[in-house]
Amino acid sequence: MLRNLLIYLSKAEWMRKTVMEWGIVRKVALRFVAGETLVEAIEVVKQLNKAGMIATLDQLGEDTDSEEIARSTGEHIIRILNTIEKSGVKSNLSLKLNQIGLSLDYDLCVEILEDILKHAQSLGNFVRIDMEDSTCVNKTIRIYQLMRDKGYDNVGMVMQSYLYRCEEDTRVLLDQGCTIRLVKGAYKEPAHIAYPKKSDVDHNFLHVMKILLEASLKEEAPTLSEDGKWPAIPAAGTHDGNIINFTKEYATKIGLPKNKLEIQLLFGIRRDLQESLVKEGYPVRIYVPFGTEWYPYFMRRLAERPANIWFFISNLFKK
Ligand SMILES: Cc1cc2nc3c(=O)[nH]c(=O)nc-3n(C[C@H](O)[C@H](O)[C@H](O)COP(=O)(O)OP(=O)(O)OC[C@H]3O[C@@H](n4cnc5c(N)ncnc54)[C@H](O)[C@@H]3O)c2cc1C
Repeated sequence: MLRNLLIYLSKAEWMRKTVMEWGIVRKVALRFVAGETLVEAIEVVKQLNKAGMIATLDQLGEDTDSEEIARSTGEHIIRILNTIEKSGVKSNLSLKLNQIGLSLDYDLCVEILEDILKHAQSLGNFVRIDMEDSTCVNKTIRIYQLMRDKGYDNVGMVMQSYLYRCEEDTRVLLDQGCTIRLVKGAYKEPAHIAYPKKSDVDHNFLHVMKILLEASLKEEAPTLSEDGKWPAIPAAGTHDGNIINFTKEYATKIGLPKNKLEIQLLFGIRRDLQESLVKEGYPVRIYVPFGTEWYPYFMRRLAERPANIWFFISNLFKK
């Protein structure tokens, strides 16, 4: 109930306007966001690198409703790639296709993504396409495949274990040499598309994770690059201790080296776990979101964990 309400509010324009004008909310939201500017975000990535972690930078933003904004977002993303290169931080980049116009104009989105991938390729960097709600899945996979056909191999995908189609899509993408971040899924989906029960979502995650880990055993499967930019095939994108333990144990059981998988966590969540994974020698990539459009991202983080709401409310009353 509460999760559904928060996900609904994450898309409500009236709520966004009200909340974003409230300075104190911004302060709390920044627990999950690495600042509002690229300079701040790069500083965060430097600290993460010092702590033995790599990163994927994400300029926050969701549905874009004008060609002008889609194009300027594309230009910003290219600037992020340049700044990663100049600063020498160990980071690649994540983006959402709706930021660059997916629901506005398919061809425009393709054009902007190609510019981004071309630029990333010239810098030897990698771009992960985040997965959005289920209405975007077919189009996102189609665009990914188009980019591969055009010769861009510096691009990877995200699969969501709450979707019934997750395994099937994963197998198709693996056949095409795709690297995949597996997550549970952060949107509200109907029961005919996604498992309503959390235990089924978790179970499917383990099932698909096994497929990914086995795919990474193949000799030709990539290893994580030294500069942290190019990933291995499987990335477990989760804070769930049980799933992470399973991933580590299964990888050990099948003899998969640590640099043939990644564990990815969101900035500001389960720092204890992030640090202990580094100590154990696992590649840990932190998803580092930044920018002024933090509202929907913040609301989805509240929806994931009711305790965050109490954290949020208690901070509102602190001086
Ligand atoms: C690197 C990364 C990238 C992602 N990319 C996408 C994407 O492209 N598309 C998409 O739909 N979803 C994405 N997600 C979000 C994902 O789908 C889940 O909504 C989110 O990760 C919460 O699920 P969980 O796997 O951590 O497990 P859960 O079962 O939700 O949580 C397990 C435990 O993790 C901790 N935890 C989880 N969430 C929070 C939180 N918000 N605050 C504090 N503690 C928390 C708690 O201790 C909780 O008990 C991504 C997640 C990660 C980590």
